[in-house]
Amino acid sequence: MPSLLIHNIGAIATGDLAQPLRDEQTLFIEDGLIKEVGTTRQKADTVVDAQGLTLTPGLIDGHVHPVFGEFTPTQNSIGWQRFYMHGGTTTMVSAGELHVPGLPLDPPDPKTFKYLAVLSLRCNSKPQQYGPKMQTGTLLLAPGLKEEDFAEVAAEGSKAVKFIFYPLMDPWDEALQYVEWAHKYGLVVKLHSGGVSRSGSSRPAGSEVTFRLQPDIVAHISGGPIPMPKDEMESIVAESKAFMEICTSGNYLRTVELIEMATRHNALDRVVMGTDTPGGTGIQPRGMLRNICLISSLGKIAPEQAIAIATGNTGKAHNLQQGIIAPGRPADLILMGAIRGSVASNALDSIRVGDLPGISTVIVDGQVVIKDRSEQTPPPSSLAKTTHFHSCCGE
Ligand SMILES: [Zn+2]
Repeated sequence: MPSLLIHNIGAIATGDLAQPLRDEQTLFIEDGLIKEVGTTRQKADTVVDAQGLTLTPGLIDGHVHPVFGEFTPTQNSIGWQRFYMHGGTTTMVSAGELHVPGLPLDPPDPKTFKYLAVLSLRCNSKPQQYGPKMQTGTLLLAPGLKEEDFAEVAAEGSKAVKFIFYPLMDPWDEALQYVEWAHKYGLVVKLHSGGVSRSGSSRPAGSEVTFRLQPDIVAHISGGPIPMPKDEMESIVAESKAFMEICTSGNYLRTVELIEMATRHNALDRVVMGTDTPGGTGIQPRGMLRNICLISSLGKIAPEQAIAIATGNTGKAHNLQQGIIAPGRPADLILMGAIRGSVASNALDSIRVGDLPGISTVIVDGQVVIKDRSEQTPPPSSLAKTTHFHSCCGE
C-alpha cells in the first residue's frame, strides 16, 4: 500500500466548517486515503517536507462547464482542466455540458439533452492522468422527460440535473415531478438562478421559483452573471434549506452581501462555491483562490471558513467524499503559502488581506501530482520538498 507522510506543516485548514483549523504538523496517508492527522510515524514511501506551508483540502469547483473531455468549445478551451489543477482545484463538478455549438434550445429538446449527458459521461469516463477529478453528465431538464430517462442517466453515472432552459412557469406539476424523480435516482437538483444565461434562452429565476421547486443547490445565487434582487436572496438565506452557490462569474457586491447575510443568519454551512467557467467569464485557473480571497477579505469571514466553503461545503452539497481533511477521506490536498512580496507571512494571513496565496504542492489520491510549484500562481515564499523512497535502496 503506497504511503505518504507530510511533516513540518504550518497550519491545517481542514475544510470542515465545524472545526476549520487544526494545529497538527504531520499527516499520514495510505492507499490514497488520509489515515492519521497528527502522527508519530517517521517513514513512508514518499515524504513531503511542507516547509511550514499551510495544508488545505484540494479545492472543489462546484460549477464548471466542460463538454467533451478536455475540449470545451467556449473560448476554444483545451487543456484548461489541467491549468485549473495548478490553481488548486482537484475536483470539478459540471453544471451542464451546454456549450455545444448549435445546441437546439428553442424549444429545449429532452432527447438531445439526455444523449448529451450520456455522451459527455462517456467522453470523461477515463480518469485524467494530469487533471482534476471530473464529475460530468449533468442532465439539463426539458419538458417531456420520462422517469426512465432519469433512471438511464443515473445508471450511466450522472450525479445531477439542472433547471436552466426549462420554462419555469405554471403549471408546475412536471417540474415538481422532475425534482422527485431526480431524488429517487440519487441526483442533485441544481437551479440556474438570477437573470438569463449567455444563451439568452433561460428565464430569470429568484426566490419564488426557489421556494416552489426547492432545489438542492441555488446556482450562482449572487449572479452568474446577473443576480436576483437582494431581498429575494436574503429570503433564501433566511428561510430556505438549499445550498447557495457563489461563482466567479457573479456580481462581486452581491457575493459579499451574501456572505454577510449568511453570517447573520448562521447559514455559512449552506454556502458553496464554483467558478462558472469556461464561459463568458473566460478561463480562470485561479478563480477559486480569488473567490476565497474575496469572501474572506471583504466578506469578513476567517480564511479557514472561506476554504471550508470552497472544499468541505461544496463537496457535501454534491455528495462527494473529498473536501475534508480527516481520517478515511480521499487524500486530495494542497500546500500553499504567502507569495514573496506579500505583506502576509502565511497563506491564511494572505487570504485574510485579499492577497492571492501561492501553491507549492498538489496531491491527488495520495500521489504528488504537482511537485515543486504551481505553473499558475507565483511561487510561495517557501517551497515544499518531496522525496521518494524505495524500500530496497533508500532514496
Ligand atoms: Zn453556469
